Amino acid sequence: MALTRIGLAGLAVMGQNLALNIAEKGFPISVYNRTTSKVDETVQRAKIEGNLPLYGFHDPASFVNSIQKPRVVIMLVKAGAPVDQTIATLAAHLEQGDCIIDGGNEWYENTERREKEMEERGLLYLGMGVSGGEEGARHGPSMMPGGSVEAYQYIEDILLKVSAQVPDSGPCVTYIGKGGSGNFVKMVHNGIEYGDMQLIAEAYDVLKSVGKLTNSELQQVFAEWNKGELLSFLVEITADIFSIKDDKGDGYLVDKVLDKTGMKGTGKWTVQQAAELSVAAPTIEASLDSRFLSGLKDERVAASKIFQGDYTSDVPVDKAQLIEDVRKALYASKICSYAQGMNIIKAKSTEKRWGLNLGELARIWKGGCIIRASFLDRIKKAYDRNAELANLLIDPEFAQEIMDRQAAWRRVVCLAINNGVSTPGMSASLAYFDSYRRDRLPANLVQAQRDYFGAHTYERVDMPGSFHTEWYKIA
Ligand code: NAP
Repeated sequence: MALTRIGLAGLAVMGQNLALNIAEKGFPISVYNRTTSKVDETVQRAKIEGNLPLYGFHDPASFVNSIQKPRVVIMLVKAGAPVDQTIATLAAHLEQGDCIIDGGNEWYENTERREKEMEERGLLYLGMGVSGGEEGARHGPSMMPGGSVEAYQYIEDILLKVSAQVPDSGPCVTYIGKGGSGNFVKMVHNGIEYGDMQLIAEAYDVLKSVGKLTNSELQQVFAEWNKGELLSFLVEITADIFSIKDDKGDGYLVDKVLDKTGMKGTGKWTVQQAAELSVAAPTIEASLDSRFLSGLKDERVAASKIFQGDYTSDVPVDKAQLIEDVRKALYASKICSYAQGMNIIKAKSTEKRWGLNLGELARIWKGGCIIRASFLDRIKKAYDRNAELANLLIDPEFAQEIMDRQAAWRRVVCLAINNGVSTPGMSASLAYFDSYRRDRLPANLVQAQRDYFGAHTYERVDMPGSFHTEWYKIA
């Protein structure tokens, strides 16, 4: 057997599909997994899916030795300790100049630590976020590689072919930046994904609980929305979900799904990072909080008995108007959510001197990943107009779009509140907008209180300097 071009270790859902994708694009690939049955399974799939140039190995030494030098191995194993264990297994057989790429959802600081450790051993290291789940990995994901530029150059030709291809925008991959920037960007991408999903769920709740739309009407509404400014993978699959009948009973499957959302941690990391960086991210935080609250199913059922009552407002609802208002509220809230995500990335990029290109990130998210949407093109254009944009909200096009949707947005949030339907994402987005657009906030009072009880001093609007007042003596 001739040497292969690249290796991939870790053959669960993501690894297996990415390996097949790489082989299908004409790059001979060696594969390895700790549990060897997955190696055989992958080799079998490669045969069935078109005799793809994929070669399986049961031991790490022959796996590594089957790859051409300098060797490049992509790892797709569980984040954390399994990555360290896999590195130890592989590095024992790798040589100076070889390269390891972690394609998992890894904490960016782990990648930075490993990059240093590998450098000491003469190995190159990349932390590469891969988005798009099983389908993306198999047919074209969005890829966010960060770390050694030299390592990126070794495999750029592969990544350009394997990633999702968007007409007029190119392949959904770019060299993100140094250190753990690839993992960081993927983490925030996931946080934004939490926001998108929550906002769509709130739109559904308002339309169903207040507008009394049936599943079949909801399917039509979301399918219609998917033809316009909300065109996106998540809106598309949402429409599909409303059309699926329960195969184990009567009615629709969505109504039988337990209202408890799972999570794997990247959303929480995004919110923690926002706090670390002092960046307001209330929409993303609201989506995380909503997942926490969803988990309290038993408590919520008990509370629903305590707080029984009529939570329907007597204001009549015009269905067509409501659908249009909710569409606009969803779009405006989405702008706020992306503004927050981009600002987290921008702040980290400044702190770490990564020099990240925000417009380019919007471009590579346009295909292959879960948040893919036509909307991302508008974000790319906003950063093309001004790479230093302080906030997406003040880009002239987005600002106009928000102004045009503001009245509808407020109507939806008020209607939801009056009907006892929580819209944490939409409400937080609106509050974010209302705080951001005001030239004077009640922060003067908070600062006065701080100075009153803690002598923390305050600045004045009418003269420079730092002031302290003994408020309690005067009062
Ligand atoms: P996973 O369930 O996260 O991990 C399973 C893989 O990790 C298996 O190959 C397993 O090997 C290996 N593994 C676990 N512990 C190990 C250890 N101590 N030593 C060596 N190998 C070990 O797999 P996945 O869902 O395919 O995800 C892979 C990575 O991609 C993760 O970081 C995940 O967060 C990320 N990701 C996943 C998705 C998705 O949709 N699933 C999407 C984007 C990113 P064995 O077979 O021997 O147990």
